[in-house]
Amino acid sequence: MYVHAPFCVRRCFYCDFAVQVRREGDAEEWLRALEGEMDVVRSEGLFELADTLESVYVGGGTPSLLGPTAMAGLAEVIGRGRLRSPDIEWTAEANPESLTPEVARGWREAGVNRLSLGVQSFHEGALRWMGRMHGPDGAIQAVRTAREAGYDNLSVDLIFGLPAHLGRSWRDDLERALELDVSHLSLYGLGVEPATPLGRAVAEGREAPVDEDAYGEEFLLAAELLRDAGYAHYEVSNFSRPGAESRHNAVYWNGAPYLGLGNGAHSYAHPVRRWNRREWNAYRDAAVAGVSPEEGREVLNDAAVRLERLWLALRTDLGLSIGGWSESPRALVEGWKRRGLAVVAESAVRLTARGWLVLDRLAVDLDTALSG
Ligand code: SF4
Repeated sequence: MYVHAPFCVRRCFYCDFAVQVRREGDAEEWLRALEGEMDVVRSEGLFELADTLESVYVGGGTPSLLGPTAMAGLAEVIGRGRLRSPDIEWTAEANPESLTPEVARGWREAGVNRLSLGVQSFHEGALRWMGRMHGPDGAIQAVRTAREAGYDNLSVDLIFGLPAHLGRSWRDDLERALELDVSHLSLYGLGVEPATPLGRAVAEGREAPVDEDAYGEEFLLAAELLRDAGYAHYEVSNFSRPGAESRHNAVYWNGAPYLGLGNGAHSYAHPVRRWNRREWNAYRDAAVAGVSPEEGREVLNDAAVRLERLWLALRTDLGLSIGGWSESPRALVEGWKRRGLAVVAESAVRLTARGWLVLDRLAVDLDTALSG
């Protein structure tokens, strides 16, 4: 289950998420809307609500703005019985400035056992440019707060591909992140979405578009440094210590069903993918009134499912089995191997970091070869 928490104190320069800008989060309003949506989900029958959930991921927005009791309230909404599995992974995102000791402890007591910290950078100018609320030492304090509250499964998000004029050293940021000695790191490349302040700045020539060469170099540098530090690069954007891979994300990559609650949240129950209204007030009003907040849905046809499965499989280091393939896709993969984009071992093709840089193109080429 994915649950979206929409509130943020301000919108970051590059952010295209479903965000509602507020000085403070309103846990009561949030929980009321989620409760309404759960009633709708129960009555419509597209999802069979599992008795026990494998994973819950509370993302945002800034969930930590919702305060210390929000996750206990969420447990009531979801149903405490569903959260009882001893193996459940319950992740919540937190930003350093709002991860207070009270929030960290309150969430831990409610059952949250993994925190994903929105660090992004340790460079003051870069953090300011992005519009983040924390300073260079925010991450260190947040990790300390989390550990004191009893979390040992911590993930840190960083952004690469930032403009050169900021003077931020990606290598320094990676080294600072390694000093935190967390079990998991997620690295995201800066994207320029047209409807964001950054998108407008690029369109008006006030900022340059992302430098693709620097983007690629930074991605490859991260892959090398983190691997040397003992992290497995187990998915395009994700690195973990052994056993600390994100189980929630594996649900997406394996094509398993998931229910998304909250504004802008997506859900998938083969072959239907659907998404909720993005705008918070519209979502909330519908959910509280017992009306479905769904904005749209698509029924995936066989070809779309095949391409998506292939693309998802290539994202991870499990790769894709080549057993039973004809000559054409095998020849394609041989070409990838020669160019350092893939390796083949134990009858599976796995992309290298260099291959992941061009994942979308490789997935389409392979799909074409497999269907030919
Ligand atoms: S904190 Fe995250 S969700 Fe909120 S505005 Fe910034 S990038 Fe977007």
